[in-house]
Amino acid sequence: MASTGEPYSTLGGSVSDWRTEAACANPDVDPNVFFRHGAAKRGRHWAQAAKKVCARCPVDDFCLQVALQSREGVGVWGGKTPSERRKVAVAEPHRTANEPFPT
Ligand code: SF4
Repeated sequence: MASTGEPYSTLGGSVSDWRTEAACANPDVDPNVFFRHGAAKRGRHWAQAAKKVCARCPVDDFCLQVALQSREGVGVWGGKTPSERRKVAVAEPHRTANEPFPT
């Protein structure tokens, strides 16, 4: 599902249950695809499989927000690699504010 850009909590989901809505919570998804260390054979395209999962995730924007606010340094979150998240953090510094999430 494409991101609406709205915070997940304003879409009717609670902050605490967003992970249960995640496409990567499906047991058919290999969690190793989200991490470079599990992707040695995929070379510089290591994140492609993860990005395909994230592209159909209903909570992708919220996931990205969590990663930005926590300055997550590894793995694909919200369809973005660490280097891509750093670019978002520079372009959209307000998204990195370490503010508490709404409940
Ligand atoms: S955006 Fe990707 S990493 Fe984040 S919850 Fe969805 S599937 Fe998982």
